[in-house]
Amino acid sequence: MDESAKTLRRKRRVKRLKVMIISTFFILVTVPIALCIWLGCRLHVTQNQLDEMTAQYEGQLKLTAQLQSEIDAYADYVPVIDETKQDDLPDTSADSKDMHMHKVYLTFDDGPSANTAKILDILDEYGVKATFFVTGEEADTNPERYQDIVNRGHSIGIHSYSHVYRDIYRSKEDFVRDYQKLRDYIEETTGMAPTIYRFPGGSSNTVSKTDMDELCEYLQSQGVTYYDWNVSSGDATNPALPTKMIVNNCVSSIGNRDTTIILLHDSGSKTSTVEALPEIIEQILAMDDTQILPIGEGTEVIQHRS
Ligand SMILES: [Zn+2]
Repeated sequence: MDESAKTLRRKRRVKRLKVMIISTFFILVTVPIALCIWLGCRLHVTQNQLDEMTAQYEGQLKLTAQLQSEIDAYADYVPVIDETKQDDLPDTSADSKDMHMHKVYLTFDDGPSANTAKILDILDEYGVKATFFVTGEEADTNPERYQDIVNRGHSIGIHSYSHVYRDIYRSKEDFVRDYQKLRDYIEETTGMAPTIYRFPGGSSNTVSKTDMDELCEYLQSQGVTYYDWNVSSGDATNPALPTKMIVNNCVSSIGNRDTTIILLHDSGSKTSTVEALPEIIEQILAMDDTQILPIGEGTEVIQHRS
């Protein structure tokens, strides 16, 4: 009896030891592997966000420098008006009024997402049409979001299927494949063949491994016009800017331009854009001689590379 009791105790000890070894193995091996996979995924997402923010920041710097040189050039030009001949001038008040009509285009990148529906409702509320440069992220899951944009009278453009900079800009062939995939999808889903494009990061991005001129020429050969922006809302920053600042970024320089194309985002994380939108629209509509339009035929082209 004593002997079998000893054997039983030994067996139990061995069993406990086995459980401890397996648990230790699980903690030391499985948990770090899972952690590595999770960190890898986070790194990929963060890298992509960083790429886009860097490209947009560089685009904005270039734009600022361009605007400064335009201001400098204008400062050198002082027209000489002979007041004695004022009465001989034809009355062009009607023409000049039309010429000074400020056209504002609200453009939303990176959607559609759940926020797109909220943005469409706000736009409807104010009777305003906008432009959506979409990606293919929701192509498989929510085709109705693409249809909604078109059915409610807004312009739809291509912003790349994958929005992964390293894939799209690796070569011209990669760019074309990505472009065609989304173009075909939009046409099949909405019945509308898109003719406008916005490069991820803008045409002035510095992350492309392919000559951007080559990609611009390709789009031109397809009858597609690419649009950049001349006002950035700043809504792509992480953490998000305060709503007031987004509104101010959008409206502060409209008065000086004939054409203002504002960069906004309607991806799932951009809730501050949704919050800022009513105020942006109200302030623009309150401006004299200013209208909000969707990008279409005849819209003045704003391109960072031109
Ligand atoms: Zn984008």
